Amino acid sequence: MILDGKKIAAEIRAELREQVQALTQAGQRAPKLVVVIVGNNPASETYVANKIKACQEVGIEAQRIAYATTITEQTLLSEVHRLNSDSSVDGFIVQLPLPDHINESTILSAIDYRKDVDGLTPESMGRAIQGLDAFISATPKGIRELLARYQITTEGKHVVVIGRSNIVGKPMAMLLMQRPYLSLPNMSASSLGDATVTVCHSKTRDLAAICRTADIIIVAAGSPKLLTANMVKDGAVVIDVGINRVDDLTSPRGYRLVGDVDFDNVAPKASFITPVPGGVGPMTIVSLLQNTLQAYNEHSR
Ligand code: NAD
Repeated sequence: MILDGKKIAAEIRAELREQVQALTQAGQRAPKLVVVIVGNNPASETYVANKIKACQEVGIEAQRIAYATTITEQTLLSEVHRLNSDSSVDGFIVQLPLPDHINESTILSAIDYRKDVDGLTPESMGRAIQGLDAFISATPKGIRELLARYQITTEGKHVVVIGRSNIVGKPMAMLLMQRPYLSLPNMSASSLGDATVTVCHSKTRDLAAICRTADIIIVAAGSPKLLTANMVKDGAVVIDVGINRVDDLTSPRGYRLVGDVDFDNVAPKASFITPVPGGVGPMTIVSLLQNTLQAYNEHSR
């Protein structure tokens, strides 16, 4: 069965639109997200444009603040402090990567965790690990939501996460292994968490044998066809996070997007599998919107 992220994300957007409409019809202001972008990295420009558009579709106010690559770290830091204390802003993100002369960690660390709707600051990640209120980064949060909406539980299951990045692998493993702390945003009654998690990476030995023991495999490596059919046991759930461009002369763009899973051969063995595109990607963006609405609700309490 296909885990249809596109469809679920559309359902969530409709729910969010209703919730935002209820607020504005009651005379309250709309939630507001600010996206700070530095320089003109084309991929970043596309991501930012998609985030702004997604906000607008559900009635969340979205503002793009753009700086030239020459901005100093100090000026960007001042902007972060200004946004932290601007009460009309519920959440903000600083689009990564930043130019080399700016220390990303310095900038991220300055973001108030209550406005860190990307869930990427050391404080947000530390709080989430301890089960305290914090925003969860968009991709792991979206995967958790996708599993929940298909009523796929994780309690007691062996989950293999391939990839250990700060934005996907680490927070994903953390969410799955921990007790389902009720303070975490959107934690539903279904048993997400309580899994036995193995994290694999580029230095893991015999990845195939480890994967074959998994009930659920989440691949976030950025390597096309990394997960092949011989690595998947019958009935496993397969979540493909990867987004890779491969040459395709039949496509007008000259390339197409594929995930990290050899989909055609793995799908017949899996009980559930996400396609690329249309699986994890749409869930990622909708998670940012959920986090922004949640920041608004907590902010206006
Ligand atoms: P990354 O690119 O920072 O790192 C890749 C990770 O995979 C590393 O931890 C590495 O050890 C591991 N890895 C690489 N090759 C491996 C191999 N052959 N065997 C085992 N492990 C291997 O990770 P990232 O930023 O999490 O991105 C991973 C992929 O997910 C990329 O394709 C990225 O574009 C995609 N991504 C998609 C979304 C989405 O919304 N769908 C969001 C974020 C990232």
